[in-house]
Amino acid sequence: MSRREVDLFVIGAGSGGVRAARIAAQHGARVMMAEEYRVGGTCVIRGCVPKKLFVHAGRFAHDLEDMAGFGWRVGEAEFDWLTLVANKDKEIARLEAIYRRNAENAGVEVVASRAVVAGPNTVRILSTGEEIDARYILLATGARPALGPAIPGCELAITSNEAFNLTHFPDRILVQGAGYIAVEFAGLFRALGSDVTLVYRADKVLRGFDGEIRDHLEAEMTRAGIHLTPGRTITAIEVINGGKRVTLSDGAVVEVDDVMLALGRIPNTAHLGLDTVGVKLDEVGAVVVDEIGCTNVPSIYAVGDVTNRINLTPVAIREGHAFADTVFGNKPWTVDHSLVATAVFSEPEIGTVGLSEEAARALGRPIDIYSTSFRPLKATLSGRETRTFMKLVVDKESDVVLGCHIMGDAASEMIQLAGVALGLKAKKADFDRTVAVHPTSAEELVTLRTPTRSV
Ligand SMILES: Cc1cc2nc3c(=O)[nH]c(=O)nc-3n(C[C@H](O)[C@H](O)[C@H](O)COP(=O)(O)OP(=O)(O)OC[C@H]3O[C@@H](n4cnc5c(N)ncnc54)[C@H](O)[C@@H]3O)c2cc1C
Repeated sequence: MSRREVDLFVIGAGSGGVRAARIAAQHGARVMMAEEYRVGGTCVIRGCVPKKLFVHAGRFAHDLEDMAGFGWRVGEAEFDWLTLVANKDKEIARLEAIYRRNAENAGVEVVASRAVVAGPNTVRILSTGEEIDARYILLATGARPALGPAIPGCELAITSNEAFNLTHFPDRILVQGAGYIAVEFAGLFRALGSDVTLVYRADKVLRGFDGEIRDHLEAEMTRAGIHLTPGRTITAIEVINGGKRVTLSDGAVVEVDDVMLALGRIPNTAHLGLDTVGVKLDEVGAVVVDEIGCTNVPSIYAVGDVTNRINLTPVAIREGHAFADTVFGNKPWTVDHSLVATAVFSEPEIGTVGLSEEAARALGRPIDIYSTSFRPLKATLSGRETRTFMKLVVDKESDVVLGCHIMGDAASEMIQLAGVALGLKAKKADFDRTVAVHPTSAEELVTLRTPTRSV
């Protein structure tokens, strides 16, 4: 029997793979796409979407507390974890079906199997052993949670993958990690009522973010009752009384129901056949690509988290789209990886775009910092002890706004539009010219008159 031939074989049906497959098919390419787990990938099945649903669940607890100051009296409220998990599962099943349908409607053949590279133009479908000839291969295999060093009892810990499907609510949870996934889960479990301990090796959470944002988030997390435990790691986990006893590197012992590791993510390049064709990987195992996603093997491309550039869904989607337009649509374009606005759904949430103060200082150019910290209007009646923080980093000579950092309610919504302004190289004078929308928190961004400091 002759081997089947396609123009494009996509390995991995996540954010980047699905978009690339669909757009390439719409350009007339014959496309196959293999998925070993569930169509939709990390974002839909066990990342952004379920995470944000859980964040919403936690915020209702805040709303219930905040209502009293506004005159509302509500009876005893009760939270049911299993209802949340079941409803989340229904929603991601619905989204998975939409992703699959959109790809199939565009003419993509979706294969439910692990697939590996068997040659520069050959993919092997592991469930059947069939080999497919492909003019191009796209690696869109994403990344998986890092598990850290093999300490005694490490098999007792969970990662974000399992946290979405716990069969019980963790009344006490210890999260290890200081990245955005760690602080998000610490915040959402705390809001839902868990006693949360956050353990991290670094001295502060959210490495790479603006220093003041990091400080303000730590202050808010402490105020919310999260036990921040910097400068330490887990050295052992053991089962005790139906829970877990966790030993830390300073000898301290914490008893919890669950231990979650959020130690970063590892690109999925192992056992993918890449060594057989000599695809170049970097020191962390990510696929090395040029600006259109091409590897050192001209027929093999890669997009998304497997390339470990900016590991976010909208970036993976864009990279997949640019690849398909460039290779199959005769419409070459590349993704601008500078100025990607992003959010952290911590409590309170963070929105950030552009340079942190530290990164701007490192450029060695004079900068002005404008910042404000204030009690949001809602908190005056609710009595909630929380502060909103905003900051603009401005190039002193050109007046161009280099960075915008927000922590507080709706920061993720605000930063999307600040991203448009910074993309247009808005100057501080443009922010100043803009009439405020009142009464909002966002208006503070256009009424910051005097620099807090010049450096
Ligand atoms: C807990 C969590 C929260 C997140 N929150 C956000 C957020 O709020 N905002 C945001 O922008 N990003 C968020 N992300 C990151 C986002 O999910 C990823 O950046 C995005 O999913 C990357 O898309 P991708 O296409 O590169 O890979 P993925 O979406 O991971 O898709 C890769 C797919 O390939 C499959 N696969 C792997 N190997 C093979 C193989 N050999 N054969 C067949 N199939 C294979 C996998 O099963 C997977 O479905 C979050 C991630 C996590 C873990």
